[in-house]
Amino acid sequence: MKKTDEILQKMMSKDSIKVTSPLLPDLNEFTELLKDIWDRKWIANNGQYHQQLEQALAEYLKVPFVSLFTNGTLPLITALQALDIKGEVITTPYSFVATSHALWWNGLKPVFVDIDPTNCNIDPSKIEAAITPKTTAIMPVHVYGTPCDIKAIQDIADRYNLKVIYDAAHAFGVEKDGESILKAGDISTLSFHATKVFTTIEGGAMFMHDAETKQHIDHLKNFGFAGETEVVAPGINSKLDEVRAAFGLLNLQKVDAAIEARHRVAIRYREALRDVEGITFWDDQSGVRHNYGYFPIFVNAQEYGMTRDELYFRMQESDIYGRRYFYPLISTFAPYRSLESASPQNLPVATKMANEVICLPMHHALSEEDVEKVIKLVKTNK
Ligand SMILES: *Cc1c(COP(=O)(O)O)cnc(C)c1O
Repeated sequence: MKKTDEILQKMMSKDSIKVTSPLLPDLNEFTELLKDIWDRKWIANNGQYHQQLEQALAEYLKVPFVSLFTNGTLPLITALQALDIKGEVITTPYSFVATSHALWWNGLKPVFVDIDPTNCNIDPSKIEAAITPKTTAIMPVHVYGTPCDIKAIQDIADRYNLKVIYDAAHAFGVEKDGESILKAGDISTLSFHATKVFTTIEGGAMFMHDAETKQHIDHLKNFGFAGETEVVAPGINSKLDEVRAAFGLLNLQKVDAAIEARHRVAIRYREALRDVEGITFWDDQSGVRHNYGYFPIFVNAQEYGMTRDELYFRMQESDIYGRRYFYPLISTFAPYRSLESASPQNLPVATKMANEVICLPMHHALSEEDVEKVIKLVKTNK
């Protein structure tokens, strides 16, 4: 067996401490909904549970319009298509690779801009220098669910007549000053993947500002069909099925408790790790409802006495599986590394943060004992 396969096997064992754990509905309640789906024999194509989940999410997230998708990547791809984005798009290298892949699938050129070290989001003060006559949009990411500087980004977009599409994959339920950050920009998207705070196993959603755009998006995610006999655009198939919509409806009832449980883990990590030399992390921002989807720490090797990777692999030896999100940077991957904006000299902050980060285990099902085990390991830096 290859070493990575061995680690994967160990990580999959039930007792390992994982970076995340999926939110699961009560099995009996889920079975009841499955029986109903079996009775009605309508299992896809905008069924009853699909409609209910769209409405329930609009209410929970306090947004006017929701369009459900089968994952979190296709709404990104579809948003760019719907807004007819061309040429160059300014984006961040510090994200999951799907952010840039969505540009690639639309034939667009990503232009990477460095990040702000205080939140790992795109640094608005560096965006203007990257704008060219070919720039048509900005695609920022609310990394770890921490809101981007939405106002600064919108100011630039307005001045240069650019669209803004937020990859808000991490930002389920995040609010700033009582308002959902999913309302920012022209379009925002979420992922409901198993690893995210709210999950439909695989799934995702798009958020827009008007009914007309929602209708167009709903056509695009259904092959472009605008009626039984009319196709208005080369759409894709990205519909969420009834089984996963029902799963999501039940999870929606549990997600607040899950976020509270995550919050308690964050409080304990902060309290215990505050004084560990060479380890930094962020506190909550005032006015923000965080979702505690991730708990990134940054390891300064010199002060900590051990490199990030030494700590990461030592955790693995103790059956604790953090993740180096987001290392390596998207800009270092084969499809993107030859772009001029991908050079490490253009991205010094992102390069440094990617080399220092570990996301500690963070989920609703972590036991106090597990949390203490993680803390003890991080504190043992000698
Ligand atoms: C998870 C994620 C995606 C992709 O979502 P899928 O549901 O896995 O397709 C996109 N962007 C970011 C930042 C993500 O973390």
